[in-house]
Amino acid sequence: MARKKRILVTGGAGFLGSHLCEKLVDGGHEVLCVDNFYTGDKENLAGLLGSPRFEIIRHDITFPLYLEVDEIFNLACPASPIHYQYDPVQTTKTSVHGSINMLGLAKRLRAKILQASTSEVYGDAEIHPQDETYWGRVNPIGPRSCYDEGKRCAETLFFDYRRQHNLSIKVARIFNTYGPRLRPDDGRVVSNFIVQALTNQPITIYGDGQQTRSFCYVDDVIDGLVKLMDTNDEVVGPVNLGNPSEVTMMGLAELVIELTGSRSAIEFKPLPLDDPRQRQPNIKLARDRLGWGPSVPLRDGLVETIAYFENFIIAADRAGAAA
Ligand code: NAD
Ligand code: UDP
Ligand code: UDP
Repeated sequence: MARKKRILVTGGAGFLGSHLCEKLVDGGHEVLCVDNFYTGDKENLAGLLGSPRFEIIRHDITFPLYLEVDEIFNLACPASPIHYQYDPVQTTKTSVHGSINMLGLAKRLRAKILQASTSEVYGDAEIHPQDETYWGRVNPIGPRSCYDEGKRCAETLFFDYRRQHNLSIKVARIFNTYGPRLRPDDGRVVSNFIVQALTNQPITIYGDGQQTRSFCYVDDVIDGLVKLMDTNDEVVGPVNLGNPSEVTMMGLAELVIELTGSRSAIEFKPLPLDDPRQRQPNIKLARDRLGWGPSVPLRDGLVETIAYFENFIIAADRAGAAA
């Protein structure tokens, strides 16, 4: 086994963070999860609470944090448009002040630090698929800007701490990821469609449904994050992590209806402002430098995710009936 490390995961109670904490504890490491529970949930960490190698700290990373660790995965930040737009100033603070604090912590400890960046830094891209050399096309003053520009500034900070303070950094640009522990009220398309299909509510397609995304199963992304952190210091990134297989939102809706056997109809709703038209990662860099690529096809990952939401809905119904 690799050397046992003490690892900080910010945003560890969220969708990706909770899977990452599990993977790191399973790998024999000691894990400190820091979260303010804005979109995260302790339930996501239920399987880890008995472990002597796991600890949760309630803390908002926009405030300084003093503890001792060997590595930092910086995942704290709401990722779903409805949540990051609810308090946009706090979203920008989380990416900017939060990153400064975590970089300051890493600098004091000389710890390696990884930033969970996003495909949103490419914005509504003019090139397709997007590779890491593309600088992006982002609206600086729109409703998505708090997230997109916050994440872009976080990347700037990471690279300036590397240049100015010789810090060991890693930047992953994560594309749309799905899987168990997405919140049912998250507003992201995969959770929306599955919950709507399972409850026979209309499936809400924004716009004409011809916009595309490329969905990566959570286990694949977590594997990529750990591989990136564990590579030598020469591999800094930014590195795209995602699944290049692209689907239209109409195609996704049809697949979810098929896999759930749902009676849901399709309902068209207005397209949100600045909604990117097409998104697909070029993952050549991750393949070449990390030996990483996704292994779970959309259909298989959706089956797992649907099973999770089925249990979730049954448990919620039981709790409602008991109350
Ligand atoms: P999530 O909302 O489930 O998790 C984010 C976590 O961060 C939550 O537990 C939340 O409570 C916590 N948090 C938010 N603000 C905080 C603060 N100021 N201090 C401490 N904790 C805070 O989202 P996720 O999908 O798990 O995303 C995790 C990270 O990955 C985010 O940084 C997101 O931008 C990035 N990312 C996710 C995706 C995706 O498709 N899921 C794609 C690209 C990038
Ligand atoms: N910081 C922190 N934990 C630490 C060290 C620093 O939260 O262990 C915060 C600190 O509040 C500071 C920020 O990180 O505002 C940036 O630290 P840095 O050393 O880069 O800058 P400076 O302290 O010189 O402003
Ligand atoms: N979307 C949709 N119906 C929904 C939720 C989202 O058609 O109920 C669309 C949304 O407009 C976007 C795509 O699905 O084009 C992905 O949206 P999501 O919020 O999941 O991710 P992001 O836009 O951040 O990639």
